[in-house]
Amino acid sequence: KNLQHDGEKLITTHCCYCGMQCGMHIRVNEKTGKVVGVEPRYDWPVTLGKLCPKGVTAYQTVDHPERITKPLIKKNGKFVESSWTEALDLIEKNFKELQAKHGKDALSVFGGVSMTNEKCYLVGKYARVALGTRYVDYNGRFCMSSAAGGFMKTLGIDRGSTLPWPELEHTDCFFMAGSNTAECHPTTIQWLWKARDKGAKMIVADPRETPTARIADVHLDLKAGTDSALANGLMHLIVKEGYVDEEYVNERCNNYEELKTSVEKFTPEYTSKITGVSVGKLVKAAHIFGRSPRSVVMFARGVEQQSKGVDNVCLYTSMALLRGQIGKFASGVATFTGQGNGQGGREHGQKADALPGYRKIDNPDHVNYVSGVWGIDPAEMPKAGVSAYEMFDEIQKGNIRAMHVICSNPAVSAPNNHYIWDGFKKLDFMVVSDFFLSETAEFADVVLPATTWAEDEGTTTNLEGRVIRIRKVKDPIGDSKTDWEIMKLIAERMGKGSYFNYDNVPQIFEEFRIASKGGKADYSGMTYERIENEDGLFWPCPSEDHPGTPTMFQETFGTPDGKANLAAVDWQEPNENPSDAYPHILTTGRVVFHYLSGTQTRRTDFLMEQCPEPYAEMHPHLASKYALQDGDTVFLETKRGSMSVKARITKAIREDHVFIPYHWGKELSVNKLTNPALDPTSRMPEFKVCAVKLKKA
Ligand code: SF4
Repeated sequence: KNLQHDGEKLITTHCCYCGMQCGMHIRVNEKTGKVVGVEPRYDWPVTLGKLCPKGVTAYQTVDHPERITKPLIKKNGKFVESSWTEALDLIEKNFKELQAKHGKDALSVFGGVSMTNEKCYLVGKYARVALGTRYVDYNGRFCMSSAAGGFMKTLGIDRGSTLPWPELEHTDCFFMAGSNTAECHPTTIQWLWKARDKGAKMIVADPRETPTARIADVHLDLKAGTDSALANGLMHLIVKEGYVDEEYVNERCNNYEELKTSVEKFTPEYTSKITGVSVGKLVKAAHIFGRSPRSVVMFARGVEQQSKGVDNVCLYTSMALLRGQIGKFASGVATFTGQGNGQGGREHGQKADALPGYRKIDNPDHVNYVSGVWGIDPAEMPKAGVSAYEMFDEIQKGNIRAMHVICSNPAVSAPNNHYIWDGFKKLDFMVVSDFFLSETAEFADVVLPATTWAEDEGTTTNLEGRVIRIRKVKDPIGDSKTDWEIMKLIAERMGKGSYFNYDNVPQIFEEFRIASKGGKADYSGMTYERIENEDGLFWPCPSEDHPGTPTMFQETFGTPDGKANLAAVDWQEPNENPSDAYPHILTTGRVVFHYLSGTQTRRTDFLMEQCPEPYAEMHPHLASKYALQDGDTVFLETKRGSMSVKARITKAIREDHVFIPYHWGKELSVNKLTNPALDPTSRMPEFKVCAVKLKKA
């Protein structure tokens, strides 16, 4: 196809939004240097030229009129444009004074994973070396943390997919739980269609009949918060019907006897009672899954954003293990990464307890290694901090006094919004780096203008674990700077500039390659040249002659004994259940036209025309109890907050559930209502289940 337009150049890169990281070319006007459009990249093997509405319009944010182009300082409650010198003077003064008064840990950093690997790596180093604080965590805590925790427990390594995406075409069965793939990762659907053309079956577990569930052979319409019961019930049938790959399980897995005991009570009748899924559907799903020679178990936030999210991941992963499906062609287990670099962003040390290469901050050998790379005394390495939501507990206790939020919008995306907003107000000093004035930035004392993905280069790691090149399309707008330059400037002000002596992005990449060497996520064999020449490389890639690892766990798992750990875990109720006062279940999620907290997509005209506001999706039977018609305003309330939105009445949802998408802020933010009950391992909040009451407004 001829994609070239007269008077324009094409720059090859990837979409800035979800973990698919679809291949695209950005069109740049050669005279003006402005970004004017995109063309799909037909030769990108993961997405074959497909883009969703967000990807097609992503370029429109680059030169958007609402971009922040100069540092902003809040004076008398209003933002005033300033110079970089004035903004940095203020940051230095406040950071130093607060640390002198309250200690190093008075400062905190809240990172994000819509950034390149290079920037994500630098966030952890910036917090621990430049600011010297233990308090660093990131928005991936609300996204991928339960998948990470579950994969670590069962498989010993957390890579979001054990197989490369093009192999999906050759799969016989897709078991998809808590993933509305057709809307949230739309360019995956082509692989499912290709496989279905060859006879593959699809089983979808979701409380809603989403566009994904609508095309399934079996839709398991479970009650939100009952995934562990569903997985145990299906494994009960897999064991009972003789579908277990005994040879694989005996050779490659631990805990089989414990699992058999644990699933014994999950008869179809018992499972049906908990989940609300009919016995017939359970049996049909187990037969399809059990008889498929090749199957892939896939899941996403519906499963993971629960206070037992790690259990859910362990159990669904165990389903794949029982069938002997992990480490083989066109089979395996995968989670759909929400954020663009949700995979890479969780590997390089911006988590409260992690160091680059998926090393642990409480492991002295790991601390010694990374300290050596950074050139610091290991004794100077701060201890583990706390998770993203728990940082707001530390604000309430007066321990955290200042926060630097980088490329993240927790004012919308964190649960229990009122608590988050109150935390921001209590801070003595707050800095935000972003390219739009997000709801979070509005709380800040200083807003630093950051660049978009098109104004910097680097790498990201897509949902398969494939490391890819992001290319610079144009120079930064106005006085904006890249996040790595901003961290470097503040490090210099804090007297730590010698540790951030980078002139360009490749220098940061070279350092983090070494920092990851020998860790669970080993990038040390990768170079920009290799990634470009080979059009992406899968980690682990421990040496420059290593081909990378498209298929994980072919011989051994990442656990100490090399065996996978089957999960023998009972179902536990969600933290909050319907009661007389709050009789229904509220669940949240995404729509195809918006990305995460909506900071970018709410500023894109076409996407707002398609979906301008949130709505409460509910079944006609539930609506009729409250005399609600489609389009009426409904008032919803949980123990934490309330909101009013329009009712959207549809049979495509369980009668006892209400669904609201979460891409809007302030009065339209459903996260005012969501429950911050945390998973004990991943510290993931329970976004997906809480008790709600409603009435006609
Ligand atoms: Fe692809 Fe995701 Fe971008 Fe859509 S949002 S174009 S699926 S990367």
